[in-house]
Amino acid sequence: MKKDEALRLLHDPNLIRPQSLILLSNIADLAASLKVPCYIVGGFVRDLILKRPVHDADYDIVVEGDALTLGHALVKTYGGHLTEHPKFRTAIWHLPSTFNFQPSTIDLITARKESYETPGALPTVEPSVIADDLRRRDFPVNAMALRLDGEHLGELLDPLGGQADLEKKTLRVLHPRSFIDDPTRIFRAVRYAARYGFNIEAQTLDLVNEEALKILHSLSGERLRHELDLILDEESAPQALTHLADLGVLTAIHPKLPAFDSSCADWLDDANERLGVQADRRTMGYMFWFMELSEADVILLANRLNFTNELTLDVWSAAQLFNGLPHLTNMKPSEWTYTLEKLSPISIYAVYLTTQENALLRYLSFWRHVKPHVSGADLKSRGLPPGPRYGEILSRLRSAWLDGEASSKEDEAALLERLLKE
Ligand code: ATP
Repeated sequence: MKKDEALRLLHDPNLIRPQSLILLSNIADLAASLKVPCYIVGGFVRDLILKRPVHDADYDIVVEGDALTLGHALVKTYGGHLTEHPKFRTAIWHLPSTFNFQPSTIDLITARKESYETPGALPTVEPSVIADDLRRRDFPVNAMALRLDGEHLGELLDPLGGQADLEKKTLRVLHPRSFIDDPTRIFRAVRYAARYGFNIEAQTLDLVNEEALKILHSLSGERLRHELDLILDEESAPQALTHLADLGVLTAIHPKLPAFDSSCADWLDDANERLGVQADRRTMGYMFWFMELSEADVILLANRLNFTNELTLDVWSAAQLFNGLPHLTNMKPSEWTYTLEKLSPISIYAVYLTTQENALLRYLSFWRHVKPHVSGADLKSRGLPPGPRYGEILSRLRSAWLDGEASSKEDEAALLERLLKE
């Protein structure tokens, strides 16, 4: 891409907001005053060339010089604060809140060279030039840099053929050991392929082989879940997860990890605020994904993927309900209610979406809110001695409302009299 074309894209308000461009120029000006070449790299450049708006993109700024020095200068000039990682000479600049800018942070990176000593572990790094920094990246389409400082603004560095790959709609790794060095790149490839409708080049697919899958098997639960979370965030999550299953990646993570049922795709954003149940796409996704598993398998996978306790509970609860549903079908509303009360509301909603069992919806919208008029204080004033009878009587009264045996205060009062005599 020629410089004038890059400048045209950078000045297109449909792709990049004018205030974002001003911020980038300010960063570049400061870098120029420090005499360090400054680039924006990665997804921002990829999406800009694809003419996709970069309003929500991360800003990854790479300098051939010290990113921490640039960070300190930015804070001194514009405010905000830095989170520093001195080992990698990188920093996150947290913009001052007065900027009111999305994203609220900018990554500042010292151009570096990486080497992997142990497959799947984090790399050893040393400061270097931009060409080396691009070489350490995952795919050519993510390994392009757009220079920002001074008269160089708009110069595209594409030594690895990223633009050609974008045109061919292709994803490929930069070297044969790429997936061995870092098997999370397999997830990234599949995620981008699904998002952009790209193909993964055959030679790259061949590298998702036994050796790479074995390393994947030993990857930490946290890193795996992070990749799966990012996939679930995407519109095209079902395609990506199906692709991972076809490549044998899911069973390599854990033999019990099932394929994702794409018929759930439309419900990922369906958490229903009106019913008082809310969840993000990730929680919804894992609930649908693991719903048909046994309790023991849910726990195995939750441990493998390092789920939080809250997520484990929702997913376990959904599976428990889904599998137990046949035993509940002919029960009375009160029995449904007392069973469902032990489960998380969002998991009940997820099972409702997949089974359309109307009792689940009635529970969420109505039954769970039904309470008798009589309270513990009323029972006390009737002289009932403290003890388990309180709970029993209140439950019986609630059941009477739920099951239609009481439909007025008078019905409830008559039942209470009978119960007090028992
Ligand atoms: P998106 O956020 O749309 O997925 P992105 O390119 O911003 O795209 P990030 O995960 O923020 O994605 O990564 C930023 C850049 O860092 C990538 O474009 C790529 O160049 C590099 N990168 C990220 N993860 C890896 C990895 N596992 N191996 C090599 N390079 C990576």
